[in-house]
Amino acid sequence: MEQKEDKLREVISHAKEYGYIFPSSEIYDGLAATYDYGQLGSELKNNIKSYWWKAMVQMHENIVGIDASIFMHPTTWKASGHVDAFNDPLIDNKDSKKRYRADVLIEEHIEKIRQKIDKEVEKGKKRFPDNFDEAQFRATNPNVLRNAEKITEIEDRMRTTLENNDLQGVHQLITDLEIVCPVSGTKNWTDVRQFNLMFSTELGSVAGDAATIYLRPETAQGIFVNFLNVQKSGRMKIPFGIAQIGKAFRNEIIARQFIFRMREFEQMEMQFFVRPGEEMKWYEYWKDARIKWHKALGLGESNYRFHDHIKLAHYANAAADIEFNFPMGFKELEGVHSRTDFDLKQHEQFSGKKLQYFDPELNESYVPYVVETSVGLDRMFLAVMSASLQNETLEDGSERVVLKVPAPLAPYKVAIMPLTKKDGLSEKAREIMDELKFDFLCQYDEKDSIGKRYRRQDAIGTPFSVTVDHQTLEDNTVTIRDRDTMQQDRIAISELHARIASKVDFKTLLLEKQEA
Ligand code: ATP
Repeated sequence: MEQKEDKLREVISHAKEYGYIFPSSEIYDGLAATYDYGQLGSELKNNIKSYWWKAMVQMHENIVGIDASIFMHPTTWKASGHVDAFNDPLIDNKDSKKRYRADVLIEEHIEKIRQKIDKEVEKGKKRFPDNFDEAQFRATNPNVLRNAEKITEIEDRMRTTLENNDLQGVHQLITDLEIVCPVSGTKNWTDVRQFNLMFSTELGSVAGDAATIYLRPETAQGIFVNFLNVQKSGRMKIPFGIAQIGKAFRNEIIARQFIFRMREFEQMEMQFFVRPGEEMKWYEYWKDARIKWHKALGLGESNYRFHDHIKLAHYANAAADIEFNFPMGFKELEGVHSRTDFDLKQHEQFSGKKLQYFDPELNESYVPYVVETSVGLDRMFLAVMSASLQNETLEDGSERVVLKVPAPLAPYKVAIMPLTKKDGLSEKAREIMDELKFDFLCQYDEKDSIGKRYRRQDAIGTPFSVTVDHQTLEDNTVTIRDRDTMQQDRIAISELHARIASKVDFKTLLLEKQEA
């Protein structure tokens, strides 16, 4: 635990030191759980957006993107169910005065039991190192079975109580499981209450004339209300998707763990409209496509896992999370949801407008079903930062801090360094930079020793450093250093562009995704 917290702390301080993320309004001591992306952070964020947009929109003929407004007609949120049902069950510990999400406390308890099972499996592996059959062990070992049964029981109770809005039942479950507050260590809990997560504000400046409107808690509804506009103006044929990247706002009960849970965050969502009855096929398709997109980044295959939802949202008939191994453990990074025809039907009902598609092949009209993929941009950022930040001990015993960001996502792609400022080396270096800057974000650096400059670039994640020396003036060659291998090659200036592009182009990632 200690180690995990240390890792998160390390990421937070590295992000601040190098201009990735600052606490918001820091000169006023900040505002809880709000952060600003700095000069490098906004580059990395933009690159993550590009990777998503290219993979989802550019690589799919049948997916288009929109940019809807944050404010929407208030009836939108009546129709979507958010006014009545976008609640989290909260519970307070009377001793520590800390507030928790009741379902999260239970999930964390389940996770502990799951870890017991994993330990048992590890023990088994050690006992039978040569011919260990994990599946059989899991299916027959009495300790594993007992704990698995416990999990099913807890999950069943959690689902039924939450689905029936039985808050007393949720409280009873927490009591029966003897869950204690991680801060006070006591079981002195308040009742469980529901808390609506939407932020509201008022439209219009005349007192009394104002209407309550909401800051959108998800970008999806901007897509649903535009379903027909896009379908008709874009002549889209089912199946087709509408994608969007934008801010969403939720008054989270507890916003914490750096940029993992904020009250203002960004989502990258895609709603895929399909024929009724075909949604499960597409649900599986998108689960597979999305995890490949993540894994192509090379942050480690074992850092991802699926988690099927126990409690389905009011609109879904299937839902899974793609979880990532964050410094705090495995947590949701993306949701893939089969949302049925719930949203479009609700909007039909509340607006009185038909939101149907005429399917020329079936010769009939219907309300399409929807499969949604929804990933948090800030959580992606945290996943990339935390998996990339590494402390390495080099062969000569020295240490280096290196941010091994996937090259296409790196803020700066190349650093251009004249060995000295004298002898015309600066001018030559500038000449090279002036050529490369059309395609790559470059950083010019002529201060300190080359060794120090390399370390600086390692720390901010620049994939290549190019050194210009006296030989460059004679034969137009430079030294190019690779961030990850630290290997240095002497190559012609004319080869630089191709060498850098081969690693930093999005195409390398997109091809990897296809082949995965
Ligand atoms: P959680 O269970 O963690 O609250 P959720 O299931 O409510 O998340 P969704 O409604 O599925 O989240 O939203 C889609 C994605 O948006 C999530 O997978 C996550 O990456 C991101 N997200 C949701 N809430 C937040 C938040 N408060 N801060 C940052 N990202 C968020």
